[in-house]
Amino acid sequence: MGVVTRLKCAKCGAVYKGDDYLICPKCGLEGIFEVEYDYDLMRDSLRKNPLRRRDRDDIFRYVDMLPVAGPPPAMLRVGWTPLYRFERLNRTLGHKHVYIKDDTVNPSASLKDRASAVGITMALERRCPAVACASTGNAASSLAVLAASAEMESYIFVPKTIPMPKLYQIAACATRVFKVDGTYETAFEVATDAIERWGWYNRNSAVNPYLTEGKKTCSLEIYEQLGYNVPDVVVVSVGDGCIISGQWKAFKDLHLAGETDRLPRMLGVQAAGCKPIVDAFEGSCDVCAVEADTIADSIRVGEPRNWRKALKALVESGGTALSVTDDEIVEAMLLLGSTTGVFAEPAGATGLAGLRAALREGLIDKDETVAVLVTGSGLKDPASLDGHIEVAEVGRDLDSVAMVLEGGGD
Ligand SMILES: *Cc1c(COP(=O)(O)O)cnc(C)c1O
Ligand SMILES: [Zn+2]
Repeated sequence: MGVVTRLKCAKCGAVYKGDDYLICPKCGLEGIFEVEYDYDLMRDSLRKNPLRRRDRDDIFRYVDMLPVAGPPPAMLRVGWTPLYRFERLNRTLGHKHVYIKDDTVNPSASLKDRASAVGITMALERRCPAVACASTGNAASSLAVLAASAEMESYIFVPKTIPMPKLYQIAACATRVFKVDGTYETAFEVATDAIERWGWYNRNSAVNPYLTEGKKTCSLEIYEQLGYNVPDVVVVSVGDGCIISGQWKAFKDLHLAGETDRLPRMLGVQAAGCKPIVDAFEGSCDVCAVEADTIADSIRVGEPRNWRKALKALVESGGTALSVTDDEIVEAMLLLGSTTGVFAEPAGATGLAGLRAALREGLIDKDETVAVLVTGSGLKDPASLDGHIEVAEVGRDLDSVAMVLEGGGD
């Protein structure tokens, strides 16, 4: 078990003990915590039980680096997803050392399962009978799916703009799903009040600091899968900023626990129609809320909640942030699908779109190793490809098939 020594406010730096607060009482919603462990204990634990000798093939492989006492009694298997190097994709990119971390194969088909698994385990350890969250989609479906598998109740609040496949996935698994008449912000407010009134465990990533700890397991795996090497660059799509801060935390924790003395550069990618974190990074200023407009619904976050930690990850790592257009995102979805078979939702392919832009701009040297996170499955939002795919319509006769193959007609 990872021993959490204290929670440190990312805004004012105040420190608190474990379970006292979920967010900094002085800073309110802006005071999101960073989780700090007893790194001497972690170092000891890694020395006695080295990563390379472990055999669990899920996130609880890293139980001594997580804020939980042990794996839950029952849960679908989360994490230990494949890291691929695809020659054909890399030839197209013109870069030999690109690795694709395929988190579409998690139980609910997104990286969010890593956070939900930790949240549910913590709720179980605190004997909380139910969990709840507000989400644009993936966090919610992940919570509903994993709670069902852990025999826990789940109460989910979603905005009315949620893609159909995500809503159906939630409805099939949750105890109750509430479609809130309003935006994600409204759903978030209703969920916050309901959580207080009914005493459910709060899985809102943006406020619950332990969830980022679950997300960090993705990069702990990358480190192992690269043969115990830290990549030079890690590419992540950014909405609220929890995933990117989780990946940076992984490498910092590995460093503090004495596993490695190298750290990667973080490359954060947003959609051009919703890039408050890119703007803040470029202007070296605080984040301002924006009107969000992009097909990538999982990163359509006009008021990111974890921006302070995301900016820290970018600055501390010597990394950078950039944005890509919706057309570039769709192109990346089709490139990834056609060269690798990995089918990503728009936010899932945004990292790859960003990598292409970074390569064009010469931000990555030709010998550098790059890990790109593919964060969610294309089956979550197939309608995002409307108007961008070609389907040949044919009859029973082979003539119409021949016509397509031989380029007849137009
Ligand atoms: C949540 C999510 C993101 C963005 O993560 P943040 O922590 O909000 O920055 C990216 N891609 C997918 C598929 C997601 O579900
Ligand atoms: Zn504070």
